[in-house]
Amino acid sequence: SSLQSSALARVKPSATLAVTARARELKREGRDVIGLGAGEPDFDTPENIKQAAIDAISRGETKYTDADGMPELKAAISAKFARENGLKYETNQIHVAPGGKPVIYNAFLATLNPGDEVIVPAPYWVSYPDMVLLAGGEPVMVVGAEADGFKLRPEVLEAAITPKTRWIILNSPSNPTGAAYTAAELEALAAVLRKHPHVWVLTDDMYEHLVYDGFEYTTIAQVAPDLYDRTLTVNGVSKAYAMTGWRIGYAGGPKPLIDLMRKVASQTTSNPTSVSQWAAVEALNGTQEFLASRAEAFKARRDLVVKMLNEAEGITCATPEGAFYVYPSCADLIGKTTPSGVVIENDEVFTTELLNDQGVAVVQGSAFGLSPYFRISYATSDAVLAEACTRIQKFCASLK
Ligand code: PLP
Repeated sequence: SSLQSSALARVKPSATLAVTARARELKREGRDVIGLGAGEPDFDTPENIKQAAIDAISRGETKYTDADGMPELKAAISAKFARENGLKYETNQIHVAPGGKPVIYNAFLATLNPGDEVIVPAPYWVSYPDMVLLAGGEPVMVVGAEADGFKLRPEVLEAAITPKTRWIILNSPSNPTGAAYTAAELEALAAVLRKHPHVWVLTDDMYEHLVYDGFEYTTIAQVAPDLYDRTLTVNGVSKAYAMTGWRIGYAGGPKPLIDLMRKVASQTTSNPTSVSQWAAVEALNGTQEFLASRAEAFKARRDLVVKMLNEAEGITCATPEGAFYVYPSCADLIGKTTPSGVVIENDEVFTTELLNDQGVAVVQGSAFGLSPYFRISYATSDAVLAEACTRIQKFCASLK
């Protein structure tokens, strides 16, 4: 019999990590490779946050804390939700885990029975369907078309809801498209959800602080307070504060759900790292000044990448509202042939050949549930981005 459990057999390894690993391997072989696959800010964690961690170590804050986060951090998160989102979450309505990813997984483990459905709008973050599967549920993919800014239409949501639907996932701004929902768009989805009281909402707000051109960020529990009692508002410090390695994510939600999630954490991870929790306290309570200038830098990079990609033959690239991703289409290149004689049959062949030919690593759209597209992470310097886009232009021009 197989060593692998039947639950794990339903899961595939992360495609974004696979691309990053392949790019690293080519680099080791001496190839000049530009990696635009990874989803993390290139900025360093701000100094005041690092210092708070150093101080915590010096004070001896190096012991177990409550399994779902220490009171000081829960208080900082509660204040953040009130200040930035107009949401009232008491400290006993807050869950802290080693990253946004385990927060989401804990919610699924706590609530999904075999056969329970989770609606996953595509293009989706690669981990959603697999986390649902691992927790025993069934992901139900629905597509947001490029013409709709890759966003879920209310009637598509309506058609996907069944008596078995447990959750709908919202992710705004989105990984992989960068698309963000306006308050009116969220309200239109809320109008559908109002008719189906058995459906819970998991909103992944990880990229909240990365929105551009004056986009006004809102989250669904704020827009539709009547859904508050069945909404889990997920966020974290990884992307906003350049703290991916510290592993702190959090959520606010109804107390009965938060109690179940604590039960999961108490028997699996126990607490997130104590030192990281103190760093997160400083991230949330300390100066927020650098957020605006970093968002400005990301916006300039987005504009550079969108412009240069649209100048590439056969590529069209929409301008998204936020995050640090763009999701260009390579539809017009399907069926063409590379100089080495490979036919571009789909986005996976396109990204493989782009890496082989020009040493630019991007992720194929099939990994995110919508082809023929690919994802570029622009969380790197202007110079590197310009060079990468020049190579993409060269590659596209070489196709016959
Ligand atoms: N949610 C989205 C949409 C993400 O893109 C990511 C990271 O890539 C996460 C959650 C996970 O964040 P963390 O690193 O805090 O687990």
